[in-house]
Amino acid sequence: MNLNTEAEKKNTYDAIVVGTGISGGFAAKELAEKGLNTLVLERGRDVKHPDYPTATKDPWEFENADLPTQEDLRKQGVQNRTGYTIRQSTKHWFVNDLDHPYTEKEGTRFDWMRGYHVGGRSIMWGRQSYRWSDLDFEANAKDGFGVDWPVRYKDIEPWYDYVEQYIGVSGQNEGYAQLPDGKFLPPMEFNCTELELKKAVREKFGRPFTIGRTAHATAPLPHTPWRGQCQFRNLCSRGCPYGGYFSSNSCTLPAAEKTGKMTLRPNSVVYEIIYDETKSKATGVKVIDGETGEQVEFYAKIIFLCASTFGSTFIMLNSISNRFPTGFGNDSGELGHNIMDHHLGVGAGGDVEGFEDQYYFGRRANGFYIPRYRNWGSDKRDYVRGFGYQGGGSRQGWDSLVAEAAIGADLKQLSATPGKWSIGMMGFGEVLPYHENSVSIAKDKKDINGLPTLLFDTGFKENEKKMRVDMRADAAEMLEAAGVKNIHTFDNETGLGLGIHEMGTARMGKDPKTSVLNKWNQVHACKNVFVTDGSFMTSAACVNPSLTYMAFTARAADYAVSELKKGNL
Ligand SMILES: Cc1cc2nc3c(=O)[nH]c(=O)nc-3n(C[C@H](O)[C@H](O)[C@H](O)COP(=O)(O)OP(=O)(O)OC[C@H]3O[C@@H](n4cnc5c(N)ncnc54)[C@H](O)[C@@H]3O)c2cc1C
Ligand code: SF4
Repeated sequence: MNLNTEAEKKNTYDAIVVGTGISGGFAAKELAEKGLNTLVLERGRDVKHPDYPTATKDPWEFENADLPTQEDLRKQGVQNRTGYTIRQSTKHWFVNDLDHPYTEKEGTRFDWMRGYHVGGRSIMWGRQSYRWSDLDFEANAKDGFGVDWPVRYKDIEPWYDYVEQYIGVSGQNEGYAQLPDGKFLPPMEFNCTELELKKAVREKFGRPFTIGRTAHATAPLPHTPWRGQCQFRNLCSRGCPYGGYFSSNSCTLPAAEKTGKMTLRPNSVVYEIIYDETKSKATGVKVIDGETGEQVEFYAKIIFLCASTFGSTFIMLNSISNRFPTGFGNDSGELGHNIMDHHLGVGAGGDVEGFEDQYYFGRRANGFYIPRYRNWGSDKRDYVRGFGYQGGGSRQGWDSLVAEAAIGADLKQLSATPGKWSIGMMGFGEVLPYHENSVSIAKDKKDINGLPTLLFDTGFKENEKKMRVDMRADAAEMLEAAGVKNIHTFDNETGLGLGIHEMGTARMGKDPKTSVLNKWNQVHACKNVFVTDGSFMTSAACVNPSLTYMAFTARAADYAVSELKKGNL
């Protein structure tokens, strides 16, 4: 006799999606639009578009000049390692580190930046959106680091097309083989100093240079009429009430909601996958209610783990059964290994003389992009892979007057006069998949929900260090060639994680002996569980990864539904 039959029926869906960030939001939309009754479980509080509490506040409305207080630093010291995320205007989008601790193995550093709420980091992301090319998909096979990707660009290209058109990505097609063109909305404009740099970079070095490709609606998006166009106000990290940039809250979750097929359950901390050995299938997940502490189980035919790289990896490592004694789907022993990110914090900047009669329109939330040119074509370095630069030119505005002693008419005159031009760029370098960069469960340290936490053991190696030498020198060289003055270079020490592009801990591959997922993001050893956040990434490339997560998520959802219909799951 099963006394729980009624409860079980009530808690049973066609699909469960864990997480509502960039990948979870997309999975929810795709699965619900394809007709599946979809339960979406999110550990954090609900956030409804367009209710972003600080979005329309003026600078003078924030206490402490919008800087973190001592109390903020006590509670969010790790989240503040970026130096720009814990402000009065944005701190509510980042976790309380005391409630959600983790451990860095002695002598190592890992910067884990997170937001636990509906929408995840789709609210705070920088929106830079680039496609991978076969330079990236073939890299592991060619130089022997990591395992070969089980896919190539042609497999993902239609899904990039699909995602870009749905979320709206503004950009310029350039025909660069290492950075494929896309289905773009109108590009944003360069300003005069950036045009000068572009000329020098292209003519003197033969290097590529384009406007940043960014998930902003620079034209109407008729398929999501509830979203408005970007107003060029550059307050995006507070949340955009216009829906001017892509977030789960403004785009994919409302689309899923419209189908009538989605049930969204915030405050639902998933901590385990339920595995049925007799069926060799996962049957559901275990949840702690974040508000009541109650433990609940939910059941479904398919499960999409989209809880972010370490969120999903935690759930898998914490799902121990007779079949999977070291973590869910971990036959290869690779679960929790091969952590990658992008290394950054290195580049150059300087002053631009002239152009006093020129300015620019609005506050463009974007910059220029210099795609990878190292170890490309005939260029060969003493390291493998490469890096790209993101940068921008700007003119000093009224905020430079804070330190001025002027009052009255002088102050008025000064504040109406823009200051000097400056320009700078920072590199984003590829990090290799090293097996020893890993995360495991620390049973003795618990979080606010009484769950075990994660222990990180990571570090950069020689390849990243050698690459940084070029990242710094090349930036200065290009600025100099464009006539930039007072050039300063920088190379700030960072930990892995500070790129906020963590990837790799449940990589996909051809061989179940060396990878956790197959080419459809399906757990090799349990076909009704799909993992489509950054944990599936087999290598890191040097471009921002979230567009790629969405493309693979849409592809996996399409495959899952067709397999379900065929009775294969
Ligand atoms: C300041 C900043 C700038 C960035 N800039 C860029 C950029 O320009 N371009 C780019 O490509 N990427 C950028 N990123 C990275 C980007 O935000 C992430 O790659 C992306 O959000 C990852 O999507 P995700 O769905 O895997 O995870 P998330 O968006 O983090 O969502 C995961 C969700 O899962 C929930 N969750 C976690 N654990 C559980 C659990 N156990 N149970 C239930 N729910 C759970 C979380 O609360 C969260 O809502 C940036 C990030 C930040 C913070
Ligand atoms: S710049 Fe555009 S996307 Fe960003 S907050 Fe303003 S309107 Fe929204």
